[in-house]
Amino acid sequence: MQIGFIGLGTMGLPMASTLVSAGHAVTGFDLAQDACEAFRLAGGTLADNPANAMAEAEAVITMLPEGRHVREVLRPEVLGALPAGRLLVDCSTIDVTTARDLAGMAQDYGHAFIDAPVSGGAEGAAKGALAFMTGGDPEAVARAQPLFDAMGNKVLHFGPAGSGQAAKACHNMICGITALGVCEAFALADGLGLDHGAFFDLCRNAAAQSWILENRCPVPGPAPAAPASNGYAPGFAARLMAKDLGLAQEAAQACGHETPFGAEAARRFATFTQETGGHLDFSAIYETIRKAER
Ligand code: NAD
Repeated sequence: MQIGFIGLGTMGLPMASTLVSAGHAVTGFDLAQDACEAFRLAGGTLADNPANAMAEAEAVITMLPEGRHVREVLRPEVLGALPAGRLLVDCSTIDVTTARDLAGMAQDYGHAFIDAPVSGGAEGAAKGALAFMTGGDPEAVARAQPLFDAMGNKVLHFGPAGSGQAAKACHNMICGITALGVCEAFALADGLGLDHGAFFDLCRNAAAQSWILENRCPVPGPAPAAPASNGYAPGFAARLMAKDLGLAQEAAQACGHETPFGAEAARRFATFTQETGGHLDFSAIYETIRKAER
């Protein structure tokens, strides 16, 4: 399939690269030159702006930080200039309202839009093993199946446009709350003089096991591939975790639901992001928690 891919960052680059490996013709664009160069080295074709990346594409995939970036790339004059009938697949994690607005706008110009945020991290993206949480017209989701087959191993459909983002907000609220729990337990283990490796080994083989513990163990050493063992290079940047927890709070407020643990996680990651810039992996919040709880 001819694909336009906008946003070649931590996630977008490996996702676009797996599409190239699967035999799709992918034209990419990113504002960052180093991201573009990495995609060129992976066999992708580059465009000099988003509209040119989309011009010949049957399907357009966006993998951008926030809703405002997706709105900027899929703005009305760009959608209006495309021949009708394009499939727009937004894999970014954004707010439900923006996803619904974009679906409506796409429809006005004769295109199909689905929201398809992902889980699995950069590791899952590199292995073509992402899970997609989709929202939108089932026919449009079916059209995107060859793309999902290349980039992932699980596709769940939650309902109309915005439902994928709703599922993602709830999912990431679990991740944020779990991350704080794992950090707090490691900080306590530290205070009690436990060996990090032995404690990690216990938890990963017992009831405390989780993806967050295994893949984002917050202390250096026990998990060699985890960000903590690599200077906390993301992974999933703390600023993105703060954003996602904020989206979950927005969604909770919109439906009048109280989520006190989610609210506390949102507050902690927002503060950490304000204090540090939030560029390190979210597991870097461990040091803050360890110091605060001494
Ligand atoms: P990132 O910051 O590494 O990459 C985003 C890329 O978008 C950057 O390269 C940036 O230059 C580019 N960009 C920004 N505005 C642009 C524009 N107008 N036109 C073209 N390019 C533009 O972020 P990421 O980690 O790849 O995350 C992307 C999305 O996926 C986010 O919504 C994030 O919440 C979500 N997500 C990330 C992970 C993860 O583990 N990193 C996991 C699941 C979901």
